[in-house]
Amino acid sequence: MTTELNMNFIAGDWLAGTDANRNINPSDTSDVVGEYARADEKQALQAIDAAFEARQLWQRKTAEERSDALDRIGTEILARRDELGRLLSREEGKTLGEGIGEATRAGRVFKFFAGEALRLGGEKLASIRAGVEVDVVREAEGVIGIITPWNFPIAIPAWKIAPALAYGNTVVFKPADLVPGSAWALSEIIVRAGALPAGVFNLVMGAGSKVGNAMVTSPKVRAMTFTGSTGTGRQIGLRCMERGAKVQLEMGGKNPLVILDDADLEQAVSVAINGSFYSTGQRCTGSSRLIVQAGIHDRFVAAVVERMAALRTDHALKDGTDIGPVASKEQLDQDLFYIANAMEEGGRIAAGGELLQREHQGFYLSPALIVETHNAMRVNREEVFGPVASVIRVKDYDEALAVANDTEFGLSSGICTTSLKYASDFKRNSTAGMVMVNVPTAGVDYHAPFGGRKGSSYGSREQGSYAREFYTSVKTTYTQA
Ligand code: NAD
Repeated sequence: MTTELNMNFIAGDWLAGTDANRNINPSDTSDVVGEYARADEKQALQAIDAAFEARQLWQRKTAEERSDALDRIGTEILARRDELGRLLSREEGKTLGEGIGEATRAGRVFKFFAGEALRLGGEKLASIRAGVEVDVVREAEGVIGIITPWNFPIAIPAWKIAPALAYGNTVVFKPADLVPGSAWALSEIIVRAGALPAGVFNLVMGAGSKVGNAMVTSPKVRAMTFTGSTGTGRQIGLRCMERGAKVQLEMGGKNPLVILDDADLEQAVSVAINGSFYSTGQRCTGSSRLIVQAGIHDRFVAAVVERMAALRTDHALKDGTDIGPVASKEQLDQDLFYIANAMEEGGRIAAGGELLQREHQGFYLSPALIVETHNAMRVNREEVFGPVASVIRVKDYDEALAVANDTEFGLSSGICTTSLKYASDFKRNSTAGMVMVNVPTAGVDYHAPFGGRKGSSYGSREQGSYAREFYTSVKTTYTQA
């Protein structure tokens, strides 16, 4: 059976690549989601040229025209959220509810930035010189290169593409090779519903080493925004700095969730289960280190184990599935490696961590809770990125805070407590970019700034009105009337 090829969109045309990618359903590896074109470096450069040529045309559109385009895109995404969510779940393995939720978020993000396009303002300052006016304005950067990971295949592209276009930039977008389907569907909506002039938006699917590299090194790409692993992000950052390009990096996490003795046990268990295992633990903001005070430790572990027994890991599209499969064989191998390594270093599995057989052949792993771990263990230092959480026992709040902050990452952190004193202290002293009290470390609002500290992020914040910092450049003008 031949499958239709989903093509790249370059300079206003749908084009085949030099090669093609077979997108496989991780819930059922016999199910081919689709064939997707893969570009080479030359095609990536064509897309960059087109975006470079189109930039003045797009910048000169009125804010209202750009806002209307984003609004139409958002409207179509929301109208088709069920279909887009189903595609997402099929290719990435999130449950259908999670897939539809993510598609909905993508639509909302476009709606939000449709409003932001109209709100971009400047500042007027008093001058120190008589008769001189000082104006501070924000202008589009030019061509924005966008590189995204596989774990949020529609929401992350949306939260980068929408502000880029809203503020008058043109775009070259390279999604993750593993999950091009949702990115392709989003791109098809953007070019059609958005009715964008040729070159304003370009989709270039393909390998990071070819397409991504062309974007990172081209002098025509003024700013690069990347979400993905820390190793890749750092390489991209260095290469952007070498040529003086603006760069924004969102990378890995090793997010702590502290459970204090005074926590509401039921709430703490829900927060931990959600943060550690939902979306198959494949969230940069997932809670991978559960730091539990000694007085509640045994009750907490027992209650989590009990709740885990009721979680159903199965086909992402099946009714009743709580946890979908791991997204790929490589990610599954990585999860199993860290589980085995934690055992070798003295940890013990309290529940899960087993390969599961289901009706279809897929990458099924039961969520794993590892107890008796300490913070120096490899499983607590490095990002696993799967349904794997480890428990670290601590004696008091001070030790909990110290352990939570003892990591090279700093994306998200959380605490479960009924104490205002400890909640306030944790919010002040956690070294993460996002701090949660009695809510999961994963799960954020689309209108609030998103990003981390230390090894997790570099550059200005994403999302909300804070996004304008990356997608615009500040100009100061002085006028003698
Ligand atoms: P990855 O680094 O392997 O790939 C990310 C993207 O970079 C892909 O599109 C890939 O093709 C591209 N790429 C790879 N090598 C490249 C190169 N040399 N030049 C240019 N581009 C290149 O990451 P992944 O496995 O897709 O995603 C998982 C990672 O993403 C995890 O570490 C996770 O924590 C992180 N993540 C972070 C956030 C955040 O906001 N901090 C959000 C989601 C995911």
